[in-house]
Parts: sequence; structure tokens; C-alpha cells
Amino acid sequence: MPSSPTWPEVPHNACVVVPVGSFEQHGPHLPLDTDTQIATHLCVQATTNMENVVVAPPLSVTASGEHAGFPGTISIGTEAFATVIVELVRSCDWATGVILVHGHGGNLAAVQRATAILNSERRNIASWWPHIPGADAHAGHTETSLMLAINPNLVRIDKLDVGNVQPMSELQHDLHTQGVQAVSANGILGDARSATTQHGIELLTELTNNLHAFILSAYQQWSRT
Ligand SMILES: [Zn+2]
Repeated sequence: MPSSPTWPEVPHNACVVVPVGSFEQHGPHLPLDTDTQIATHLCVQATTNMENVVVAPPLSVTASGEHAGFPGTISIGTEAFATVIVELVRSCDWATGVILVHGHGGNLAAVQRATAILNSERRNIASWWPHIPGADAHAGHTETSLMLAINPNLVRIDKLDVGNVQPMSELQHDLHTQGVQAVSANGILGDARSATTQHGIELLTELTNNLHAFILSAYQQWSRT
């Protein structure tokens, strides 16, 4: 199916795949729309040659309150974003279900809230989150490697830096109460200096395969019920 279909080209019983990103600081070296770039790339790659899938335009301004204070960050907050998800999924009643593909962990609370409402309405909604063992949290080795593999022109190589490398379990409290600015002056949680294109390519392959399998299994499950 073409990437910009007309309505008669939308397959019967299609499933909608939505890249969910953010527009927030990603250190001095990565663009503000990093999460959106990653989520969109994964959606397009994972659904190549998949019939019955419509890739929606990305949700690119979401809940980024923890990055407030850094110039460039734009956020609509958890409550508003939960409403956006609920209304988006309600508008897709022509589809078998909706799969949200996440590039931004800060949206978890909004997604949980929206999912509970939509489940109670018996609508089909699923969320895919990238699981990368050993990944650093924000704008560090992991995200920088992914961006080097997706579009190296967007990475400011001369600005690669180290941020706060304490484990998330130790940072969680300060992050929740005071935001990223209180724990990392440059906005990085991790170490971007060790990022490599090669590692980014390996991670992208793994994540794409994982997402592809997730979409297939959700679609099959929804088609049976
Ligand atoms: Zn990110």
C-alpha cells in the first residue's frame, strides 16, 4: 500500500500503527524531535510489505514535563495527551485496532490512563515499547547510536558529551519532583561519547524485528475476536 493512501485504498480490517514521539531537549548533540524520528523510522521499517496496516502521522508533541526549562521543549502534558490518545483511537473504529509505537518513556502515565479508558470501551489498543537491555536513559549512548544509524547528518558529532550516569533507580525521585534539569545540566542521562553507527544498526534491526512480530501478533489476536 502507498504511504499516503486514499480512503478506498485503506484495506478492510486494517490495523493502525501510530509513531509516538516527543519534542524535547536531547542534549547538545541530538535534535528535539529525536524520539519522533526513531518511532517513525521503526514504524515504517517494521511495516514494509505488511498488508492491512496504515501508518498514521506521528504524534510529535506529547508529555515532556520532565524536560521543562530547556529551550526547545514543547509539551501538552499527561492529561491532555491522554485525551489525544483516547480521541484518536475512538476515531479509528473503522480499523481492527490501534498500535502505539513509543519513542518516549515520559508518556507512560498518559498511555496507561488512555488505555484503561479505551479498554473499558472495548476498543482494541496496544502499546509497543522498545526494550533494550543495558540502555542508558536519555540522549546517551543508546539514542545517539540509533540516530547515527537513522540519519547521521542530524547528530552534532563535535557536541557528544557525558551527562548524569547514575542508574535510573537512584535518579527517579529527583526526576519526578524536579525534572531533568536538576540532575543533568546538559540534559543527557547517560554517555553519548561511546555511541557508534554499528551499534545503532544492530539495535534498529532487533527493534524492527521485535515490532514486526508484535504488530502481527496483535493483529491476529484482534482478528480472531
Ligand atoms: Zn528520547
